[in-house]
Amino acid sequence: MTDTAAFLRPATLDEACELKAAHPDATPIAGGTDLMVGLNFGHTRPAALLDLTAVPELRAWRRTDDAVELGAGVPYARVVAELGDDLPGLARASRTVGSPQIRRRGTVGGNIGTSSPAGDALPSLLADRAVIEVRSVRGVRQVPAGEFFLGPGRNVLADDEIVVSVRLPRARGPQQFAKVGTRNAMVIAVASVAVSLDLTANAVACAVGSAAPTVVVPEPAETYAADHLDWSGRTPLHPEVAARFGELVAEGTSPIDDVRASADYRRHAVSVVARRLLGWAWAEAVRPRGTEGTR
Ligand SMILES: Cc1cc2nc3c(=O)[nH]c(=O)nc-3n(C[C@H](O)[C@H](O)[C@H](O)COP(=O)(O)OP(=O)(O)OC[C@H]3O[C@@H](n4cnc5c(N)ncnc54)[C@H](O)[C@@H]3O)c2cc1C
Repeated sequence: MTDTAAFLRPATLDEACELKAAHPDATPIAGGTDLMVGLNFGHTRPAALLDLTAVPELRAWRRTDDAVELGAGVPYARVVAELGDDLPGLARASRTVGSPQIRRRGTVGGNIGTSSPAGDALPSLLADRAVIEVRSVRGVRQVPAGEFFLGPGRNVLADDEIVVSVRLPRARGPQQFAKVGTRNAMVIAVASVAVSLDLTANAVACAVGSAAPTVVVPEPAETYAADHLDWSGRTPLHPEVAARFGELVAEGTSPIDDVRASADYRRHAVSVVARRLLGWAWAEAVRPRGTEGTR
């Protein structure tokens, strides 16, 4: 840190954009739970830090009729505490991030900025077709989450842009998330899956993390499940449908062998987790009213 040239601390969003335009090589910092690790290990030496923690617009969320606009600087602990009803999938994913300390500092915007395929917030954003709002002095861009990430650590942000918020539809049915790791907590996902049901549109959404260079959306699996669930009768999920869904989700991935797992293990884990999540989500959908929370 000693050779960091400048520490910029805007108090408004406009000021943040002006500073980013004037210092395009400044690195934004929110919770610092990714950035400070890189700094401490000497992996990154930003010319300047743009501290976003005093920008009130980034630390707020807003509910509209059908969506939630989540400020980039809202930490996971608040997603868990405040948005479990509106965004149950993202809240479940947030609950799996790090430790209580990391969840109080770490933000969804930071997860987006890091752009790791293992980021736990990202599968829910892609499954639910979230839209990421980015801003600069040049204006505002609304980027679908599915178009934002280009590869590990790479995204479409220009040098003068910052992430302002992410817009997610409010849940219209059960949403599930699970990750596979080498232990239960404080672990980078070996594979992660988000599944959402839309009981109004009779649709299934899914996204997979840590099993390709970016989080992927297995559209054939989504279509297959939507076509094979009994939306009107709400009869139990047939095991063959669940298993085929899992296979199709795994077919949509392109995992690699690395220190955490082999590609074969990842593919297998994805198919098992996807099958289970569809089963859990459908069980919630068919459960008689008043028996929520009995699983
Ligand atoms: C012990 C530990 C455990 C962890 N466990 C998990 C885990 O289980 N799951 C998981 O997904 N992650 C985990 N992480 C990683 C980290 O906590 C998350 O990625 C978190 O979301 C980062 O958010 P942050 O606010 O701390 O980001 P920062 O570290 O502040 O920033 C991360 C990156 O995003 C950029 N950035 C931040 N905000 C913006 C913005 N508004 N606009 C543009 N760019 C921005 C920064 O420039 C930087 O490149 C862990 C980290 C630690 C240290």
